[in-house]
Amino acid sequence: MPIDATQPYDDQNVFAKILRGEIPNKTVYEDQWALAFHDINPQAPFHVLVIPKGPYVSWDDFSAKASADEIAGFVRAVGTVARDAGLVEPGYRLLANVGQHGHQEVPHLHVHIFGGRQMGAMLPR
Ligand code: AMP
Repeated sequence: MPIDATQPYDDQNVFAKILRGEIPNKTVYEDQWALAFHDINPQAPFHVLVIPKGPYVSWDDFSAKASADEIAGFVRAVGTVARDAGLVEPGYRLLANVGQHGHQEVPHLHVHIFGGRQMGAMLPR
């Protein structure tokens, strides 16, 4: 079920549990601002989620409330993961779902990085 992106942060969400080490994950990158790990249900040969370490529900919440350092650290982490995976030359896709129409399911901001194949048109018609 898609979430309501205006809800308060729920520290029992699955990515909060991953950040606390309560649920295992396949980490590909970690720094003080972000954690990146493989999606449990990959939609492409490369499908990694990058999440900020702070408690933000969505891109909306993060862009409104996070500090400049948190935003810079998170954005740089997304770029680093894609670069380190060799995705820049063939290209890749970033996706951040927000709320109901965005079909966001986990209420902790995450950017999907998809790569390893031709992604095709932007959205299904
Ligand atoms: P979204 O619809 O943007 O909220 O996507 C949530 C994503 O989280 C989906 O692609 C799920 O496959 C992924 N996901 C859910 N639980 C886990 C988990 N425990 N480890 C890794 N990925 C997960």
